[in-house]
Amino acid sequence: MKKTPLNNAPGPENNRPELTVFEPDKSRTSVFCASGNGPYNNTRKALANIDLSPAKNKRVLLKPNIGRDAKPQTGIITNPQVVAAAIDAFKDAGAAVAVGESPITGVNMSQAFETSGIKSVAEEQNCPLLDMDVRQYVPVDITDGVAIKSLKLCREVTEYDIIVSIPVMKTHMHTGVTLSVKNMKGCLWRRSKVDLHMLPQLPEHQEKPLDIAIADMASVLRPHLSIIDGTIGMEGLGPSAGKPKTLDVVLVASDAFAADSIACELMGISAHDVPHLKIGAERGYGVIDLDKINVSPENWKDLKNPFEPPPIKLSVEFPGFTILDIQSCSACQSTLLMFLQRHAKQLRKNVSKDKNIIIAIGKGHEELPPGTLCIGNCTAKHKDCGIFVPGCPPVASEILREYFA
Ligand code: SF4
Repeated sequence: MKKTPLNNAPGPENNRPELTVFEPDKSRTSVFCASGNGPYNNTRKALANIDLSPAKNKRVLLKPNIGRDAKPQTGIITNPQVVAAAIDAFKDAGAAVAVGESPITGVNMSQAFETSGIKSVAEEQNCPLLDMDVRQYVPVDITDGVAIKSLKLCREVTEYDIIVSIPVMKTHMHTGVTLSVKNMKGCLWRRSKVDLHMLPQLPEHQEKPLDIAIADMASVLRPHLSIIDGTIGMEGLGPSAGKPKTLDVVLVASDAFAADSIACELMGISAHDVPHLKIGAERGYGVIDLDKINVSPENWKDLKNPFEPPPIKLSVEFPGFTILDIQSCSACQSTLLMFLQRHAKQLRKNVSKDKNIIIAIGKGHEELPPGTLCIGNCTAKHKDCGIFVPGCPPVASEILREYFA
């Protein structure tokens, strides 16, 4: 298998600068925050702290979080004005800029670009939009991988000189938060993203295999720059079914782990409690210790606005339901959350108060109680024990139809 030296600098196969090329103080990690002036101005102000001149004549790939078909007011996706500011800043620096994404299963990329508002921004600025799932993947070895030993990367990620991660600030049901480091998972080709959700528990490791796999991914796939969009983030049932949370803040840093650590602080979370960040930092992929990071402005902690954490159990969020989720992926989780938000009351009306409705998603179930509502192809082997809704991912309206059939 061919290894692409994504994080080695400079790589023999491309013109990729070293990962610290945008670090203003090589002796100490820096994070810059800007707030109160809207997504475009905040982004330009935060980026003004970084010398972008090394991007001159380079190809820059901006990787926002637009893996879902959603509008920016929902807090699900990156604000288009943050992307617009990043395009302008890198163009001003003399770079050739493109915006790329590989969406979650079942999402049409052109539609997501359009709904997000990023299509119109990119057209105005004559910036190419890339559906990174169109071309064949590049296999990449992960020499230091613990949970995974290889990845299928979208080809563009190996071809562009500079990669910029532009996540939106969100809590995440399975990974605590999704920020700059986790956003790079959207550079994995097509359905191979799902593989990280399907790993067996590793003996002698307490952490979930998904968290270890994200840290493994970060060993080969870290951005040169992180721009975290905290214009409208998401709290609670993130990454797609939580509540929008307005902060009007943007963070910029060369070290993705440091950027995520400060974003976590603003969200009222310690990065040390986010397993993929903790594991990655322990391996030396970045810095999360607050006392080792210079944050500007000095009063940055005034911007803190704690996010409601994701619920530990969905069945608490939706009383009267028992959700059995073993090794599902985010596509099934999103469908189920969307379905429950819309139809939970309707389902409960038909069931006596003392009885829970049992729903299963994911491929890891050995057996399920009789009467279980089995959602998604991963539960197909249990289809005779209750109601089975096929699909990968399944469709929310089909769940309702099958349930009342
Ligand atoms: S059935 Fe659901 S959990 Fe299984 S791979 Fe498809 S979307 Fe993911």
